[in-house]
Amino acid sequence: MIIIKLNNREFEQDIRPLVLSFYPGAVLLVLDDGAKEADAGQKEPRTEADLLLCIFQTETDVRISLYQAPDAAEPVLKREEIFPVPEPLPGEEYRITRKNQLKRDLYRFLSACTGRTLPWGTLTGIRPVKLVTAMLQEGLSEDAICARLETDYYMSGKKQELALRTAKNEDRLIRSLEGLRSFSLYVSIPFCPSTCAYCSFTSYPLAKWAGEMDRYLQCVEKELDLIADQTAGKKPETIYIGGGTPTTLLPAQMERLLSGIAARFDLSGLKEWTVEAGRPDSITEEKLAAIRGFPVSRISVNPQTMKDETLRLIGRKHTTAQTLEAFACARRLGFDNINMDIIAGLPGETPADFQNTVEQIRRLDPESLTVHTLARKRAARLNTNAEEFAAFAGGDTDAMLEAAYAGARNMGMEPYYLYRQKNMAGNLENTGYAKEGKFGIYNILIMEEIQSIYAAGAGGSSKLVFADGRHERIENVKDVGHYIARIDEMMARKILGGNL
Ligand code: SF4
Repeated sequence: MIIIKLNNREFEQDIRPLVLSFYPGAVLLVLDDGAKEADAGQKEPRTEADLLLCIFQTETDVRISLYQAPDAAEPVLKREEIFPVPEPLPGEEYRITRKNQLKRDLYRFLSACTGRTLPWGTLTGIRPVKLVTAMLQEGLSEDAICARLETDYYMSGKKQELALRTAKNEDRLIRSLEGLRSFSLYVSIPFCPSTCAYCSFTSYPLAKWAGEMDRYLQCVEKELDLIADQTAGKKPETIYIGGGTPTTLLPAQMERLLSGIAARFDLSGLKEWTVEAGRPDSITEEKLAAIRGFPVSRISVNPQTMKDETLRLIGRKHTTAQTLEAFACARRLGFDNINMDIIAGLPGETPADFQNTVEQIRRLDPESLTVHTLARKRAARLNTNAEEFAAFAGGDTDAMLEAAYAGARNMGMEPYYLYRQKNMAGNLENTGYAKEGKFGIYNILIMEEIQSIYAAGAGGSSKLVFADGRHERIENVKDVGHYIARIDEMMARKILGGNL
């Protein structure tokens, strides 16, 4: 545990993630330092803690102190530094200047304490690329952008390049979209053959729900009827069938779902239709053939890793051989836009294991590659059963992501979307790479407020975007049983959300 004492909590939400980036997995307790001095290490301890970080701001300076064993009779002062507060400049937003300066001071301080640097520097938000996009829109040159990312945010040269490339590709893609003239559709099939150890999605065991699949599809169809009414006069720009694992549907059920969509919507303006086939243990030739009967343009075959031992450890219950078979089958049937998802930082994996996964994927030559960094989500087994995985520490995740970047570029791919989540190994990122013309449009749409996304199915989250810039979320319940039982309520929520 780390106790953070602040005499001013204005920037607490910026301080917390930066401290966590240097001390991953630490439990933070933030307290008010009501004293006039920053010598909180001398005061009565309130709880057991390993470290005490005091940040004491005045109008002229910031004093940062780090104490070890703060609960001991005599806490040990590990480091203390005083940083001057910047002078306000005419016309600037002084609060932002102070915040950024405080983050830089804290970064340098913690970097000196831990001996570490962070690839993304002081940037702790989930969309670091947004900052670069704003600089491009300001008209800054690439050199000027990189210089600012380095001096203002301490971002590494590699992340500067990644952020810049991603921002340019994302911007180009966004400009090609229809925006509010169109909409997107998401259908959730929240069933999986087994539950992966890191899973934080809506996922239910197929074995338990297989008998309810027809009732589930009936409910989805009811929602599709309503969405077709609400979007009358518009054509979908993208459709995404996600999960869970959509290929848990039997071939006839898949055909029923896809033909139900094709019958309800005018697909003449469709730019992308993705079916996230996902788990190789759920993919069969019959299912892929059923998908091929519709204008589905993109599928995913997700290995996560090409190491069987890791697959067993994380509960994926499929083998590398099954991934290779599923991929070959998809190619045989003519799929020419296949995405593969992999994860850096899986338990027990070394950079060499990860490099082997990238190399095997390079030989398959998919059109896109999505590289996730392992995130320890609260409800995931990786977190709830932490002791089960304690002996399988992950290797250097940053080195893995560099290998993925190099591998994707070798395959002729460009990064086109990037985001971060809480509790990611090394405070790193998830990046989507694709070959030219094969970017996953829906992946961009879910991060931006460009057009409405209507979602059907358990756990589906609709996002309505209105012409006046407003946007609103309408959530379906996650629990499949509740979704089926309360389908009329899900429909009523959508009606209350209003037509476009
Ligand atoms: S395949 Fe995806 S949704 Fe299903 S259990 Fe694994 S992580 Fe969760």
